[in-house]
Amino acid sequence: QDVTERLRAEAMRRDFVANVSHEIRTPLTVLAGFVETMASLPLSAAERSRVIGLMQQQTDRMQVLVADLLQLAQLEGSPRPPTDRWTALAPLLQRVAADARTLSAGRHQLVLDPVPADLEVAGLEAELLSAAVNLAANAVRYTPEGGRIHISWLQRTDGQIEVAVRDSGIGIAREHLGRLTERFYRVDGSRSRDTGGTGLGLSIVKHVMQRHGGQLEIDSTPGQGSCFRLVLPAGRVRQPQAQAMHPQDETA
Ligand code: ADP
Repeated sequence: QDVTERLRAEAMRRDFVANVSHEIRTPLTVLAGFVETMASLPLSAAERSRVIGLMQQQTDRMQVLVADLLQLAQLEGSPRPPTDRWTALAPLLQRVAADARTLSAGRHQLVLDPVPADLEVAGLEAELLSAAVNLAANAVRYTPEGGRIHISWLQRTDGQIEVAVRDSGIGIAREHLGRLTERFYRVDGSRSRDTGGTGLGLSIVKHVMQRHGGQLEIDSTPGQGSCFRLVLPAGRVRQPQAQAMHPQDETA
């Protein structure tokens, strides 16, 4: 069994290295082509600036990829997030909504449910923010113009807290759902890349949630939309001032 496990781990590592190489090679090849063009052809000022713009797109793409890879490596190598460092949920979700609005640039209707000011979660703020921003960015990227994005929260009866990012976008067919958090897994590679995706976002989200003792839950219907939920265990939630009932989330 140990041997099977080791072989599997080795195969995964080989796959990963092959994927990373491929992801880097593509923009690098395009970039090299442009460098050669600039070196060998006399270009007008307008052509030059167009080529430089295209080169910049490729370097941006590589930068985002490297940033995501470093984030994954860091998540793997660092200790479990503390259970006694508390972060207010309201400002965190407001930042998520603000980022999503910027990315959407008015193309979507975006709603953030009110969050009580004293509601707090325990863990690493930067990681939780990154997880939620990833989901909100995906909602924007995979929802056509005019669609709706809804960010809400709910404390479940067992005390767990969930933050839900729901969209009215393209949705995901059932057969893909189980694989979405694999590194570099994409349902539609060109849509992902065209919108700046690395294929690593959801694996980062899943990692963050697991490190916090929680999980990522995904529901989706093709053509109707998706709902991604960050779920944190009861021990990582507190609301010191209120005993009030929590708003019930609408059903998916
Ligand atoms: P990517 O950078 O490709 O978006 P992710 O890991 O964030 O990588 O997501 C993996 C894949 O899951 C995406 O390529 C896309 O096919 C699908 N996906 C993620 N979020 C959504 C969403 N809100 N609606 C539809 N598809 C989604």
